[in-house]
Amino acid sequence: MDTVWDCIVVGGGAAGLSAALALGRARRRTLVVDAGGQSNRPAHGVGGLLGHDGRPPAELYELGRAELAAYPAVELRNGEVVAGERLREGGFELTLADGRRERARRVLLATGMDYRPPELPGVAERWGRSVFHCPFCHGWEVRERPLAVLDGGQDGPRRALLLRAWSDDVTLLTDGPAELADDDARRLATLGVTVDERPVAGLRGPDASLEAVVFADGGGELPCNGLLVPVTLHQRSPLAQQLGATTAAAGLAADAVVVADAGLTTPVPGLSAAGDATGAMPSVANAVAAGATAAAFVVHGLMEERADGS
Ligand SMILES: Cc1cc2nc3c(=O)[nH]c(=O)nc-3n(C[C@H](O)[C@H](O)[C@H](O)COP(=O)(O)OP(=O)(O)OC[C@H]3O[C@@H](n4cnc5c(N)ncnc54)[C@H](O)[C@@H]3O)c2cc1C
Repeated sequence: MDTVWDCIVVGGGAAGLSAALALGRARRRTLVVDAGGQSNRPAHGVGGLLGHDGRPPAELYELGRAELAAYPAVELRNGEVVAGERLREGGFELTLADGRRERARRVLLATGMDYRPPELPGVAERWGRSVFHCPFCHGWEVRERPLAVLDGGQDGPRRALLLRAWSDDVTLLTDGPAELADDDARRLATLGVTVDERPVAGLRGPDASLEAVVFADGGGELPCNGLLVPVTLHQRSPLAQQLGATTAAAGLAADAVVVADAGLTTPVPGLSAAGDATGAMPSVANAVAAGATAAAFVVHGLMEERADGS
């Protein structure tokens, strides 16, 4: 543990790798620790990322890692940060799952979020393929086919109207009695969205494909090739809290997200955060941008600190 890193980046997804690239190019001694569980790994491809549209996620992360190899200041380690603390003299000490402890002047949390779709039979094996939470990511792959939105909540009508951008054949499945506001019912009717109240029991189709939604109690089936489901996002570990970060409720996040300013620095001196963990609109493009922004502010801070002789 002789090294004091300029920055430890926790997480090597889009946000963390992008941050490490900027830090490496600025010659800052950077350790990236990554557990390799990027949230979009089950997906067929990264939808909507300029220059990489449709590229399998694992390939994108391999490319990112390969780019980092050109920058000697960056070390990438497969592993997990299991605990962290702020040091009285400034900076941080992080403990890895293999028992090693690492010290750094700055820590950048790029730990992503744990996405949880509904626990409906058939969802897990189709997740990120024919069952998805984001039509911008996966709508194109099932366009112009029978699609459905599973959502008996307030958001259901809004999401069904959105999905109509990808198909003329969209059904809103309320999985029980629909309680639609008059405005919602009118807008759904205008765009030809059918509302189906039958309780949903599961999904049918070979492998990761979807052919039909199956209703409970012999209620029959609805032909369907793509299903939009609601999702909740959860923090992956208590690391942010251990380091003193403030959290707040936001968007899709069921657990609170890490609070950070426009430069993605948190109120804790030396602690930054980027990507899904901060509650940014979840997308790979946003995570890449956030990582680059956070890293730029880290480098500014480090150089000012050095100029001040601390
Ligand atoms: C199924 C699915 C499909 C998606 N498809 C798309 C798409 O097509 N297009 C799109 O733009 N967006 C898509 N998204 C959203 C997109 O994947 C996320 O917005 C993006 O991955 C966020 O990047 P991130 O770097 O913040 O987090 P992640 O990509 O989740 O990366 C975080 C990394 O940190 C690691 N980590 C966490 N905690 C620790 C720790 N304590 N120690 C070490 N490592 C740790 C994780 O293992 C992981 O490797 C999809 C999401 C899901 C769930």
